[in-house]
Amino acid sequence: MPKSDGTFTPDETQLITTWLNTHWGKDKACEGCTNQTWGISQTPVAIPVLEIPGISLSSSYALVMVICTRCGNSKFINLGMIGIDWNTVQKNAKEAKNG
Ligand SMILES: [Zn+2]
Repeated sequence: MPKSDGTFTPDETQLITTWLNTHWGKDKACEGCTNQTWGISQTPVAIPVLEIPGISLSSSYALVMVICTRCGNSKFINLGMIGIDWNTVQKNAKEAKNG
């Protein structure tokens, strides 16, 4: 069950961490500072889709932000690639919040 405050559940956080560990290469050095340690955002990040005919203005890409713990260099990974359907998570969270 997703958390009603919009943050990733422990299971989702584990899924993201496992995905990164299995999909990123051995060299995880930040290109900005060579640090090897990265954190992930506690909540999803959305990048809105530009106005395109036939696509709602509320459409966006749901992402997790991966952040270098030393310099803040940030990368964005699509939640769909990780196997997290954020539309379903948002819908369930809204229902949980509203009872
Ligand atoms: Zn860095």
